[in-house]
Amino acid sequence: TTKVIEALALNRRPRRLPVELGNASYDVVIGAGLIERAGALLAPVVPQKRAVVVTDETVAGLYLPSLLESLADSGFQVQSVVVPPGEKSKSLEEFGRVTDAILEHGVERRTTVIALGGGIVGDLAGFVAATLMRGLPFAQIPTTLLSQVDSSVGGKTGINTPWGKNLIGAFHQPAVVLADISTLATLPPREVRAGYAEIVKSGLIGDEALFTWCEKHGAAVLSQEPGALAEAVEKACAFKAAVVTKDEFERSSEGGRALLNLGHTFGHALEAELGYDGRLLHGEAVSIGLRLAFLLSVRLGYCSGADLDRVTRHLESNGMPVRISDIGEHFSAETLLHHMTRDKKMRDGRLTFVLVRGIGKAFTCRDVPVEAVRSVLIEDGC
Ligand code: NAD
Ligand code: MG
Repeated sequence: TTKVIEALALNRRPRRLPVELGNASYDVVIGAGLIERAGALLAPVVPQKRAVVVTDETVAGLYLPSLLESLADSGFQVQSVVVPPGEKSKSLEEFGRVTDAILEHGVERRTTVIALGGGIVGDLAGFVAATLMRGLPFAQIPTTLLSQVDSSVGGKTGINTPWGKNLIGAFHQPAVVLADISTLATLPPREVRAGYAEIVKSGLIGDEALFTWCEKHGAAVLSQEPGALAEAVEKACAFKAAVVTKDEFERSSEGGRALLNLGHTFGHALEAELGYDGRLLHGEAVSIGLRLAFLLSVRLGYCSGADLDRVTRHLESNGMPVRISDIGEHFSAETLLHHMTRDKKMRDGRLTFVLVRGIGKAFTCRDVPVEAVRSVLIEDGC
């Protein structure tokens, strides 16, 4: 019966999820086999049948030929630019190389930049599209779980500098997002788990039903069952789309996009400390950070220990790292605190954090004592 259900899930028409942003509105299309039909799906939403595909070497080997074929079949004139895989490609140097390559191909104002790949390619290509000739049409074809549920939706694009991640960037909404869940079949399990952490995060922020769904179907998502993947991508995108619709430019200081950073203050500190060298994936850092945000919320009296246990159990039973001690590296609480306070205004020894009053009840708290943060870090294995 599972095979039958999977077949039905795959045969069903792709789902279209609208992201309502006035003139900048677009659809997230979620389904199997979308790359083979990309030409037909893109043609109605782009101004001209000309495109440049930006992708990385790994994804190029897997999916570029079928994308180029589909675009050519629909009458597109198309070129491609391939970058090395990895966070290093989100740099000024690579930005320069990609823009030069596109200009060399003879781009026009109405040529569409298509990002084919994970969040790295999406952020880099999106930033190129945002800036080249003051803005070219852009389309996202995310191929990692993380990029399908998170980075491809919402219009944030950018690159890193030696001073930190994503410090140069722009808001540039795509004309369409094609989330082809078939591509997830080739994704390494560790990358699947990393993307899954952002799905769990969505539930924990504001959608308890999504978290409950994860408790039931998380194992199926992580074993890459197409039906479960499609449903998870759809639910997480719907959540993100709703948040982005209310706060497109992250201007709300209370709710809004800022809440999407649940678990990320801790997570970013762990990532920054290890230097983004692959020892700890972003989603793995988020998994640990989510539990720490719950632990801190419990210690400050905002959240029940039962909810913390429920979160810990779910992440742990699905093979996600949950404690700093799971990373297998030594971290000092002081160094992590330094990362956390570096880019935040600390007032009277107090910090701003996204905390929870329970599962699905995140809020911004401006009043977190540094001492409380230090003690949960130590409790967690620092
Ligand atoms: P990634 O783009 O590096 O992809 C992970 C790895 O998987 C890469 O080695 C890639 O080559 C490979 N890969 C991609 N698709 C594959 C497939 N289908 N099969 C096999 N291998 C595949 O990483 P990511 O996790 O997708 O994205 C991380 C980036 O996203 C970070 O730079 C982060 O800052 C950014 N991000 C941006 C936003 C946003 O709103 N713009 C949100 C979250 C994260
Ligand atoms: Mg994230």
